[in-house]
Formats: sequence, structure tokens, C-alpha cells
Amino acid sequence: MTDGNDERAFGRQTKLVHTGRRPSEQFGFVNTPPFRGSTILYPDLESFETNALPYSYGRTGNPSSQGVQELITALEGAKGTVLTPSGLSAISTALISVAKAGGDVLITDSAYGPTRRFADTVLKRIGVEPRYFDPRIGSEIAQLVTDKTCGIFLESPGSLTFEIQDVPAISEVARRHNIPVLIDNSWATPLYLRPLDLGADIVVHAGTKMFVGHSDAMVGTISANERYWPQVNETHRALGIYLAPDEAFLTARGMRTLELRMKEHSSRSVEMANWLEGMGGVTRVLHPALPSHLDHALFSRDFKGSGSLFSIILEPRSRTALAAMVDHWSVFGMGASWGGYESLALPSWPEKVRTAVPWNEDGQMLRLHIGFEDMNDLKSDLAEGLARYLAAD
Ligand SMILES: *Cc1c(COP(=O)(O)O)cnc(C)c1O
Repeated sequence: MTDGNDERAFGRQTKLVHTGRRPSEQFGFVNTPPFRGSTILYPDLESFETNALPYSYGRTGNPSSQGVQELITALEGAKGTVLTPSGLSAISTALISVAKAGGDVLITDSAYGPTRRFADTVLKRIGVEPRYFDPRIGSEIAQLVTDKTCGIFLESPGSLTFEIQDVPAISEVARRHNIPVLIDNSWATPLYLRPLDLGADIVVHAGTKMFVGHSDAMVGTISANERYWPQVNETHRALGIYLAPDEAFLTARGMRTLELRMKEHSSRSVEMANWLEGMGGVTRVLHPALPSHLDHALFSRDFKGSGSLFSIILEPRSRTALAAMVDHWSVFGMGASWGGYESLALPSWPEKVRTAVPWNEDGQMLRLHIGFEDMNDLKSDLAEGLARYLAAD
């Protein structure tokens, strides 16, 4: 096997294992180490004047970040990728790269909360108006587009409420009006959804989640097609955004096993969602791979597998009942984020943030990330938790 980026059309699993590594340039060591540094020394005036070295300054990249960029670019089928210190900074940088003062940005009402906060504070202040739309809008988005619209931001599925967006239909409208489509693809990863193939222009990831995969680092990524790559790259560079080499190292290490982890997460989350659908105390399971899900047909058309994450709606009970459930898990943990090997259950309140389409479910939402513990232990934990929930006042 040759180093790094061979031009041959290797399969996806081979790319996951080999792309972005160059053992022969580092004494045969398998992994690219974290290249820490600011200054890069030039041997002579000629090389300095002509910028002849592959790297010029710490902030603008090093072999650790370069390898991760190459791999994500290959997986997304993009023109290029830049890295940021968190998923949220990838989202804000991507939005700034398309924002125009006096314009508006259409954002799905199901977007990750901090995405909305960025749009409602910073974007608004610099003269870009966020306008939220029904995640199920499809081609009807044409009615919301104005001649000032400078971007359409999707997140499919929404990370709390799990509506699937019709990326091809929305992208088709956007293309007619010359508007870039941005999408947060953290849930599916490029293994299960390739938004650029469906017409989107810019893809962002909270790499903190599935790419890193072990809850031990934070990273964001922005990939763009040929048309939008120059302005994404320029914006990222101008803002001085930089991913620390240790985080790049951990991202690369996580990604080598992404295929195996996603396969396992996918089958486990679907099995658990199906099992929960019949459980007492659960009124609804929001998982797009289930036939009962409103957008199941769209999901089956566009996605090649499921993420680890889904939500359930509990029968309405008191806060005391919720505490009885979530204060006494034996396996599940309660905490933000997801994508690690450990299972998580997080009470969530989408009704507090939605503005375009009110969230009218009666019961409490619980968002679940299914990790790699024994399925029987996870099911017992959930069954016991539900029993405590139903038994409390
Ligand atoms: C967590 C998350 C983000 C933000 O990523 P951070 O690395 O925590 O900043 C963005 N989008 C989605 C869907 C997420 O779940």
C-alpha cells in the first residue's frame, strides 16, 4: 500500500484506513504525530520568497491537520475541507463565509440550539436576518426565498426532533436562485449521507461527535464543493481559525475506525428504537429508520444507515418522576454531546427554542445515544428507569 492520497479509486473503507497518512515521511511510524509549532524555518531566501515549503506558519496548517482534511474531503466528495476547534465554530465560520450585510439566512427550525444562538445574536448584529422554516418544507421553501437570501442552513435529521429534510428539493430551489445550501451532517456522517451529491454546497460536522468517537476531543469541519470552496477557505484563513495539532491527531485516530463504529451504532440505535416503541411510559419514538417516523420514506431514499442518536417522548408525568428515572441510571450517563462509546440519555425541551413550527408534544423528551455496552444491560437500565418513572408521583 502506498502512502496517503493515491489517485486510484480505492473503496471507502480503504480510504478511511489509509488516506492522509504518510508513514514513509516519518520513519515508518503508522500515525502522523501531532506537529506542534508556530514557526516553520525556511532554508534560504529563495524558498522564503517563493513560499516553496508545504507549510508556512503554524496557524495555516501542518501535517496533522492536513491528513484529517484530506480524509474528510475524500469522504464527502468535496473540493476541500478546513478544521475548526469545535462543531459550533465550524457552523459560525460557514455561515460567515456566505453572509452578506442586509441579507437573510433561512435556517431549519430543528437546528442545533447554539446554531440559532449564533444566528440570533452575531449574524443579526452584523445585519443578516435569520428566518426559521418548517424542517418539512421541501420545495415550498421557494416561497420564503427573497432576493436578499444569502444562504439556506439545514440539519438533517434535526438533532433533537429528528425531522428529515428534503435536501435535493431544497437544493434545487436554491440553485435556481443562486443561493448556497449549508448542512450540518453530524448525525449521519459522510458514510451514511453525502449532502454534496444531493445538491448541497457546504457541509459542516461536529467532529467532536462521531469523528472523534471517544468523548475526548473537540473539533469541527467545513467541506465545500468547487464553487464555494474558495470563499470558505478564505474566510477560515482570514478569521485565523486553527485546530490544535493534538485535537487533529485524536480526530485522525478516531476516524480510522469510523466505519466499524457507525455500523455498530446504526444497528444498535435501530434495535433500541424498535424495542422502545412498545414500552409502557413511551408515547413516541423519533427515529427516522422506523417505519412509524413521518419522514421514513425520505430517510430511506437518501440515507445509507442510521446515526446513534434518537429521541423518545415520555408519557406526561411530573418533574419528580423524571428525576426518579434519570438520577438512578446504572449504565446510561446524563450529559451533553454524543458520539462516544458510552450511552447517554439527555432530557430535552425543544418547545423552548422553536419559533417557526411550535413543538406540541405533551410529554417530556429524552434524547438517547446508544453506545457499545451490552444491549441487555442497556435495555434493563431503560426498563428499570421507565418503571421508576411510572411508579413516581
Ligand atoms: C454537538 C453538535 C454541534 C456542536 O458541536 P461542538 O463540537 O459541541 O461545538 C453541532 N451540531 C450538532 C448536530 C451537534 O450535535
